[in-house]
Amino acid sequence: MPYEGEIAVDGNQKRFTILCPRCDYRPTHVERWICEPGCGAYWNTFWTRGLCPGCGKLWNITQCPECSHISPHRHWYRTPASHETEPQAREALESR
Ligand SMILES: [Zn+2]
Ligand SMILES: [Zn+2]
Repeated sequence: MPYEGEIAVDGNQKRFTILCPRCDYRPTHVERWICEPGCGAYWNTFWTRGLCPGCGKLWNITQCPECSHISPHRHWYRTPASHETEPQAREALESR
């Protein structure tokens, strides 16, 4: 299962890579997430864009198997433009 592909951003197809927003960990096809709290289904959340195959719950957060940080699911889809709106960069500007 590839972890790169194309995603529609503002009507344009853009290439994306799936990486942890916190540590840049790149999930492999063997990673699994559990629907918890939920139905307990065990699946790879990136195959379904966060949709649980057991109960149909759409997970808008995803925990990193590497650093355990929980990030919004959509932040895992990294497109060339997405670094422009990184929260760390905004915080640095606002604290001045
Ligand atoms: Zn579920
Ligand atoms: Zn991580």
